[in-house]
Amino acid sequence: MNKMPSLFIGHGSPMNIVEKNSYTEALAALAATLPKPRAILVVSAHWVAPEIRITSSPRPAQIYDFFGFPDELYKIGYAAPGSPELASRTASLLARAGFPSKEDPNRGIDHAAWAVLTHLYPEADIPVLELSLDYRLKPLRWFEVGAALSALREEGVLLIGSGNIVHNLYRFEMATDAKPYPWAIKFNAAVKQAIASDEREKLASFALPVDESRDAVPTPEHYVPLLAFLGMAAEGEKASVFHESFQNASIAMTGFIIG
Ligand code: ZN
Repeated sequence: MNKMPSLFIGHGSPMNIVEKNSYTEALAALAATLPKPRAILVVSAHWVAPEIRITSSPRPAQIYDFFGFPDELYKIGYAAPGSPELASRTASLLARAGFPSKEDPNRGIDHAAWAVLTHLYPEADIPVLELSLDYRLKPLRWFEVGAALSALREEGVLLIGSGNIVHNLYRFEMATDAKPYPWAIKFNAAVKQAIASDEREKLASFALPVDESRDAVPTPEHYVPLLAFLGMAAEGEKASVFHESFQNASIAMTGFIIG
């Protein structure tokens, strides 16, 4: 079985589910180059828990975890199956690396996963699992979580970190193509540079540069999936940018691929 790549995808506003823009076009173009995985595991910015949890239902519900958007968004179906077997395989890999986790048969799949998968694999015929963010875990440890999950790449599983490098809803503008704030551009560039030079401590501190980081990462949940994604790289593998744009002035849609 061929080793699967890993992705970090900036998912941004749920409007991307139905909009056509440079970001959704980039996802469609990316999909054309990806092998078909056996399953997909998404580290979700939209599932924060007091421990690492893994969806384990054979038929996880689709969660519409956004409010006040146009009706058409709530009619988009993405009924992918789950995989209890892969959930327990994931839990055992994490346990071996020193991370206890809990399989959760009641949790469904939120839009951090399905909003991007609807562009990548619209047939919804591949099992999808989600992994929660344990808010008690120190940011640096997410590299280790990613490394523990990376064995799944050899087993035909596509690993995705879904969040955003820059994500500030307090400064959000309604227009998708609103001019990005200077701090958003500066922080995004600093993160790209730190990734290129593999400065993990710096990346885990969100402090690059400090003033911009307060606006770019007011809360950690959209940023942390990036750290897990970077940990999925094998020795010598580099993350490269497959898409870069800004939306709503305060969100970076930067996406990366490893492998
Ligand atoms: Zn989000």
